[in-house]
Amino acid sequence: MSNETRDVVIGIDLGTTNSLAAIVGKDGPRVLTDSQGAALIPSVVSFLDGGEVIVGAEARALSISNPERTVHSVKRLMGRGMADLAGEVDRLPYTVVESDNSKLVRIAIGDKSITPQEISALILGRVREQAEAALGCTVEKAVITVPAYFDDAQRQATRDAAKIAGLTALRIVNEPTAAALAYGLDTSREGNVVVYDLGGGTFDVSVLKITQGVFKVVATAGDTHLGGDDFDRTIMEEIFALITGGDNRPGKVPAEALQQVRLSAEAMKKELSSAENAMLEIDVGGEQPLHYELDRARFEAMIAPSVELTLKCCRAALADAGLQAGDVDEVVLVGGSTRIPMVRRRCAELFDREPHTELDPDRVVALGAAIQADVLAGGNKDLLLLDVIPLALGIETVGGGFAKLVTRNSTVPCRATEMFSTSVDNQTGIDVNVFQGEREMVADCRHLGSFKLSGVPPMPAGLPRVEVTFLVDADGVLTVTAREQRSGQEASIDVVPSHGLTRDEVRSMVKESIVHAHEDFANRELVELRNKANNLVYGTTRVLDMPEMPFTDEQRTDLNADIQNLKKLVGGDDIEALKAACDAFGEKTQALADNVIGEAIKAELSKGMTQA
Ligand code: AMP
Repeated sequence: MSNETRDVVIGIDLGTTNSLAAIVGKDGPRVLTDSQGAALIPSVVSFLDGGEVIVGAEARALSISNPERTVHSVKRLMGRGMADLAGEVDRLPYTVVESDNSKLVRIAIGDKSITPQEISALILGRVREQAEAALGCTVEKAVITVPAYFDDAQRQATRDAAKIAGLTALRIVNEPTAAALAYGLDTSREGNVVVYDLGGGTFDVSVLKITQGVFKVVATAGDTHLGGDDFDRTIMEEIFALITGGDNRPGKVPAEALQQVRLSAEAMKKELSSAENAMLEIDVGGEQPLHYELDRARFEAMIAPSVELTLKCCRAALADAGLQAGDVDEVVLVGGSTRIPMVRRRCAELFDREPHTELDPDRVVALGAAIQADVLAGGNKDLLLLDVIPLALGIETVGGGFAKLVTRNSTVPCRATEMFSTSVDNQTGIDVNVFQGEREMVADCRHLGSFKLSGVPPMPAGLPRVEVTFLVDADGVLTVTAREQRSGQEASIDVVPSHGLTRDEVRSMVKESIVHAHEDFANRELVELRNKANNLVYGTTRVLDMPEMPFTDEQRTDLNADIQNLKKLVGGDDIEALKAACDAFGEKTQALADNVIGEAIKAELSKGMTQA
């Protein structure tokens, strides 16, 4: 049995072709293997006629003899409806059907049907068994990776699969993020990372931006039907042409030779990653075994169009991210097909830097998931993980007040939006200062970052409508965006609220807010009163300055005296006197507005009252 006392949380790479688990042990992250030392479990489930269910390598072996009842690539179906899967379903040897009671698809096995989540659960169950055997203890919690482009439904389907398998998915992590974590790239504070993932059947490229050590996926591109299988196919076609003397129509190749050719083609491809030449002798029933040779240069020429397609996707992703190849700081290669020297070379050329290949490209994602799992298990005490927002997030308002947009304990990901305006006429730039904390004044909170929304057309105070949005994504990155609605001007900032914040600090900040609640409330009230008084002064002065306003000299003198008095009280901290003066002045100007001046002043005054 394991002598580890803390929670066991494993990282799982639930792949389209293969799945595997990893954990962080005393010597760092390692994959969990079976008794033979194999880590990869083929993501294949086969349903035998007698009701027996087979998962993994044995199931993959059945995909030739039992294709309709052997489910592979189920990841492509997770959280998808028939409408999402145009073209996809026809490529699969098993039958995909629409569900009666939900939009999501099911897989028909004989006269029954089963959901993709249940199939994935069977795979996860097998991964879990292998992990438990390797660790010698039960495993109930995991971090599971998904492609960066997975939407909410696909992520939820993955969580559901874990649940069916008796696992709690503590976190769903993006595969490229996990890969970058495995290489420890989170230790650099800022930078751009490209993760190039070329597997058996799919290609994905993701551009990640590191902000204060946390990754944010800024662009993704790829091809869901491009990978090592295509390279195998080009070799197979040459071999078929040899077997059939150039006539490689379906049916011309003996069925028994098909599978053998497929396996031989893949073996030759792999050999060419380390050798310059590969050779094949294959018995196709003739007098002589068939002899086929391929050298690396010719193989490279055969796969060049596919490799160029992946580079095209990389350029598209860079353009989406607003980056040039030269802006990329690190390139990470993931997926078995990145062992091909030409793939490495072309990546290095495109990004003008050597990509990371030190780790096994089939294991990188699982290792990264394990690192994330370790943090969740409490292995890394220094890191604070954002499952919930530990302290409120908001912006500074006039007078140093703290407007909280996201409240403490909101679960991530989350979003909040509020409208603000200006307090000074013709303000063309608005400073947005982002803070975190539980207190009422920004002076008592943590400053997270600032940015300026510029290019706002000159307008009277209170007229611009600035929509401020706070978005915290699943990785804990906070994006604050300010958008002036009339002009469409927009600016934003990314920050990581948890950066440098420890659990103890959070506790003490919450405690302080309780201890200081009374005085904070008074301070806040004073700030709000001052703002109100300033607005009254501002609005009334504007109206007094309008020559068309029919004030008597007496009224002008009286109002000016009140204005001077309010200005004096705003400078002090006598809340009661300021409150009384504001109320009295408010009533007086209101009466004037109603009786003397009418709508014009009312509009001016009400404008002044809604400022941030
Ligand atoms: P993955 O989906 O990431 O497991 O990648 C599997 C793909 O990588 C398959 O197409 C394998 O044939 C391919 N692959 C594995 N090892 C090598 C290698 N040494 N050279 C070329 N391709 C490889």
